[in-house]
Order: sequence, then C-alpha cells, then structure tokens
Amino acid sequence: MGHVLELHGLSKHFPNHIALDDLTLQIAEGEFFSLLGPSGCGKTTTLRLIAGFEAPTRGEIMLRGEPQAALPPHQRRVSTVFQNYALFPHLTVQQNIEFGLRYHPRADARESVRECIEMMRLDGKQDRKPAQLSGGEKQRVALARSLVLRPDVLLLDEPLSALDPNLRKQVRTELKALQRRVGITFIFITHDQEEALSVSDRIALLYKGRLEQLGTPRELYLTPRTRFSAGFLGPVNWVNGAGIRPESTRLSLDPPRDAGLCSIPGTIQELMFLGNCLHVETVSADGQTIVAEVARGECIFERGQSVHVFWDKQDQIHCEPS
Ligand code: ATP
Repeated sequence: MGHVLELHGLSKHFPNHIALDDLTLQIAEGEFFSLLGPSGCGKTTTLRLIAGFEAPTRGEIMLRGEPQAALPPHQRRVSTVFQNYALFPHLTVQQNIEFGLRYHPRADARESVRECIEMMRLDGKQDRKPAQLSGGEKQRVALARSLVLRPDVLLLDEPLSALDPNLRKQVRTELKALQRRVGITFIFITHDQEEALSVSDRIALLYKGRLEQLGTPRELYLTPRTRFSAGFLGPVNWVNGAGIRPESTRLSLDPPRDAGLCSIPGTIQELMFLGNCLHVETVSADGQTIVAEVARGECIFERGQSVHVFWDKQDQIHCEPS
C-alpha cells in the first residue's frame, strides 16, 4: 500500500513554546489513523499544519508525493471536520453540504450531494437549518460537507467530543463503518484512548509535541514503549518496576502455586462496582496500591480481607520510565 501522506521532521515553534517537535509519519492509503495524546500535546497543531492553516517552522508535508508548502488550504486535497462542526447557521443542510463545491465545481456535483445526503441518512432533512438538528445530525452534515469534496485525506478534529457519551460510542462505530465504505484516509484527533483503540488502524501517541509511540492499537496497549504510553492507553499497576493491567491482575485467598505466576500479599482497601465488573483495590505490605478487575459474579472479596494478588509473568509490561 502506498503512502498518501508523509510528514518529514515537522516542527512548529510559537514564541516561547514548541507545539510540535520533529514529527515524522507516513500514513497509508485508506488508513484510519489517530493522533492521540493529552491536552496541549500538539494534535490540533499537526492537523492545522496538514490543512495549511499554519506554516511549519521546519519540515515538510507531502500529499501523494507532492510537497504542500506552497499551497493554500483550499488547494490542498484535504478536508477538515471541526470539533464544533462549523456549519453555516443561515444555510440549510443541503446548502451547507454544497458549499465547498462552489470552489471545486464538478459535473457530477448534484449527484454527489444526493449520494452524501443518502449515505449520511439526512434524507428529508435537506431544508432544515443547523439549529433544527440534533448533535448527531449536525455531525453527519459536517461529515457530508467534507466527503462530498472527495478529499485524499479527511482530517477530523475531535469530531465526537460534542456528543453525549452514549451517542459518542454509537457514532464512533458508524464513523469506522463509513470510513471502510468510502475508503478515504482518515486522520482522527482524540484525547480519548478507548476511542482511539476502538476505531484506528494505527495510532500516533503524542506527548509534549513529540511522537511518543506509533503502532497498532494492540501494540500500543500490550507493548507500550514508555511508562507514559502504558498509563495513557489504560490503567496499569506498577509493582516493583513491572506494569500489570487490572484485567491481568487476579486475587486469591490462598497463595498461588503455579511457577509462572508472580504474587504479592496485600489487604483489600476498597471495592468499586463498575457495572460490568468490580475494581478491587489492594494495598501491599510496602504500601503499593494494586487494582484487580474482578468479574461481577466472581467477587468473593470484602474490605479488610488479607489476599494474594497474582498475575502471569507473560502479562507484565516492561518499558522505559519516561
Ligand atoms: P487539545 O487536546 O487541548 O486541543 P492539542 O494536543 O490539540 O490540545 P495544540 O492545540 O496542538 O494541542 O497545542 C499545542 C501547544 O501549542 C499548546 O500548549 C498550545 O497552548 C500551544 N499553541 C497552540 N497554538 C498556539 C499559538 N497560536 N500561539 C502560541 N501557542 C500555541
């Protein structure tokens, strides 16, 4: 598979602040690629550089092998879905979707708009204004408005953040299905690790303007390179330098005997009911807090009880401190 987008040593320095530092990435045709990281790590800056809203301090952006530096935003074959959707309030759904085509006229424009309306299930809502739409519908209009332009790369800046948590999960599944159907490369920004894990082919984890780790969701979650990666991708217990995820941490009343298991005695401090499971917090003799995820039907434990916390050696995460 060819690379649709390449970033070479991309940096963006603002006065007194380095927002992005030497980012090199190659994004494959048709990939669902996420930029993940905490607030201020440089995700939006990266997107704005790709879209051409900002110029890099150093480095180069290549789209289908073409350098982008000299091109203004409207001449780049990328389209952006903004966090707040940025719909025109005085235009109807149909007019919002048609908007970008004014600058990129095409013979099949009418047909493309109709297709997008159908694909985004906006049939019958063409004449409404954005204020007459739900959050999910506004988001679908924003997507339709970008997809109708048939960009080489669709940039999505936290497109789910304005939706409530339940709708967010539904829409992310739809987004993944949509991406498969249209086959356009998506670059998706999120600070939500579960969201990134669930939709992405690959994830670039950014931290303080630098690339912390690049890989598939499995690679990032199961073999994080640094402590920061391990902790950002999900909860992790650090016991004597090794990391163990709560779902790999188990509890028993008697010491485990199997040679492949590591164990440490402790006292149960807290039980947290999470609906589908419980998180049982144990404190070891030397004061380390260890959380074990226990299935709801299997929790025989109570506060104050002496237990053995154990895990399979193979499930240990070893990484750099960072
Ligand atoms: P969030 O998840 O909060 O949107 P982000 O990862 O998208 O964060 P960016 O918006 O890329 O972060 O910002 C990276 C850093 O660069 C931040 O510390 C921000 O304050 C800084 N920054 C962004 N734009 C400017 C600017 N125009 N001038 C100065 N500093 C800026």
